[in-house]
Amino acid sequence: MGSGGAGSIGLVGMLAVLAFGYFFGIDISPLVSETGQSPGQPRELTAEDRQMGDFAGVILRETETVFGEAVPAVTGRAYGEPQMVLYSGVTQSGCGGASAQMGPFYCPADQRIYLDTDFFKVMSQRMGAGGDLAAAYVIAHEVGHHVQNQLGILPKVTQMRQSASKEDSNYLSVLTELQADCFAGMWARSSTQDLRIDRDDLAEAINAAAAVGDDALMQSAGRAVVPDAFTHGSSADRQKWFLRGYEGGTLSSCNSFAEAGL
Ligand SMILES: [Zn+2]
Repeated sequence: MGSGGAGSIGLVGMLAVLAFGYFFGIDISPLVSETGQSPGQPRELTAEDRQMGDFAGVILRETETVFGEAVPAVTGRAYGEPQMVLYSGVTQSGCGGASAQMGPFYCPADQRIYLDTDFFKVMSQRMGAGGDLAAAYVIAHEVGHHVQNQLGILPKVTQMRQSASKEDSNYLSVLTELQADCFAGMWARSSTQDLRIDRDDLAEAINAAAAVGDDALMQSAGRAVVPDAFTHGSSADRQKWFLRGYEGGTLSSCNSFAEAGL
């Protein structure tokens, strides 16, 4: 990457960066200053970068429409929109270092969603035309964690997990993930994108997303990420809860904790 050689991003490039970030609510500064290059020599955005940023920005805006209404109705406070960070390779987050191997994640500490450019590539490689749905689902799922944070659920779960057995802690993690899937379903219900969400496509999208991985919950508990130490729930459960949100369309239709008797 960056072998194209343009050393300086130049004024036009910089204006594009600013307009991009401003317009879409996405921070792409890590992308244009990626590692492996000498400092002070940001790389230019590629057409692919722009496409990813554009796509993520559209999905993010759609979630803001849904949760900008639903969250204040519950909390009585304005919905604090999450920031999205698009990066390539590695970057820093409020939850520690981020790298492409970690997959997309939400960091509760800085309320940002971290997406690496490889994620989009892997999604389209695995899914072909369905890659858009899979990528959009993952973005909406990460926004779902932000919604949990806004609702005070994430801090509460994190606290409960600290004194829980490993088994209970994993269970709480699964319920948290399923609720985020349900919130993603709320987004899908209102999406203006033609993503062809039928059950088979959805199953595929969820499996592809699970293979790419997520998530920041382990980090939010102040531990290193150990993917095998927690689970997101079965594919069937994830589909079930996504469809709950898709069909129910309300935050209250997504109470995976209450359904588990908590
Ligand atoms: Zn998650």
